[in-house]
Amino acid sequence: MNTKVVKIDREHPDPAVFEEAARILRGGGLVAFPTETVYGLGANALDEEAARRIYAAKGRPSDNPLIAHIADEEGLAPLTAEIPDMARRLMKAFWPGPLTMIFKKSPAVPYSTTGGLDTVAVRMPSDEAARRLIRTAGIPIAAPSANTSGRPSPTTAEHVAQDMTGRIEMILDGGPVGIGVESTIVDVSGPQPVLLRPGAVTMEMLEATAGPVAVDPAITGPMRADVKPKAPGMKYRHYAPSAELILVEEAAHTESREAVSEAVIAAINRLADEQSRLGKRVGILCTDETRNRYEQGDGSRMVRSLGRRSSADSIARNLFAALREFDDLGADIIYSESFSKDHLGQAIMNRLTKAAGYHIVSPEEIGKDGQ
Ligand code: AMP
Ligand code: MG
Repeated sequence: MNTKVVKIDREHPDPAVFEEAARILRGGGLVAFPTETVYGLGANALDEEAARRIYAAKGRPSDNPLIAHIADEEGLAPLTAEIPDMARRLMKAFWPGPLTMIFKKSPAVPYSTTGGLDTVAVRMPSDEAARRLIRTAGIPIAAPSANTSGRPSPTTAEHVAQDMTGRIEMILDGGPVGIGVESTIVDVSGPQPVLLRPGAVTMEMLEATAGPVAVDPAITGPMRADVKPKAPGMKYRHYAPSAELILVEEAAHTESREAVSEAVIAAINRLADEQSRLGKRVGILCTDETRNRYEQGDGSRMVRSLGRRSSADSIARNLFAALREFDDLGADIIYSESFSKDHLGQAIMNRLTKAAGYHIVSPEEIGKDGQ
């Protein structure tokens, strides 16, 4: 299949481009498009066959549900069996924007979209190009991140092309995204809201609007084999580069927005040296404040900054691109600094720990067993 890539002019969007993309979607085809979080891989959310094509293009297990994207609030009622008051408050506060909510589904939504669940995930993105596409198509658009399943999510159209060329009909190139991590997901189908995935609408923001929010255990730690996850997708390895990724952090997690400890810097340098001696290509993920503290080695060492440590926005925006770049450069092993876990930091650390497969080491451990 030939994948057509078309640049979007955000100041003067060309209606013909959106018409063409909308026609593909209505015909059961796949179109990747930018949203404010990451690039989405769009298909008609009400068409079983189209949803199946998403799973095939991504290589995604079909019990991992998709998020239906709508252009305006009127798009919600046809997808849901009921809209609780709490959801209405959250909608008012955060839509359009990077918040996905889980509702009891209406019969209109096929099980192929919901991964067999009786609930449906819905989001109204704030990206104007995304909303224009959905509005033009006139249907809800199922749009998981437009990456091969398991890889870091795409934050540019080039990332999408790397994974999806030859597999989908069209890519709309709207330039780099603004946020860089996927939407916050909150389950509002029960009596109390439950956070299923942290994102740019933070826990602090949610609680200010909806009162106490429970946190699904899958967010904070690895899923035990005997626990049935709320969302099947939560059990899969995610966001990961091909290289092994290891997070280095203080045992007491004292990392803050201001600083990372000297012990962590020393530990990363020491681990990197050991791996270099073994002939491994080593990547180091750090911040502007520390990038000069890591030795570049003989050229086999790659040091990448995610931006200023005090700017969680820039760390989130650059994270997935950096992981992909390490892959492109052939890194064998990546050591990453750890970040503050509050506000947007919760989403950053959630993606990093999952990408690392929960492989976290502390300077103390490294010192002890002389790893
Ligand atoms: P992605 O489309 O890759 O950004 O991820 C979609 C994620 O949304 C899934 O992996 C689930 O974690 C979550 N999700 C979607 N639908 C549901 C649902 N009905 N119930 C719970 N979680 C859901
Ligand atoms: Mg994804």
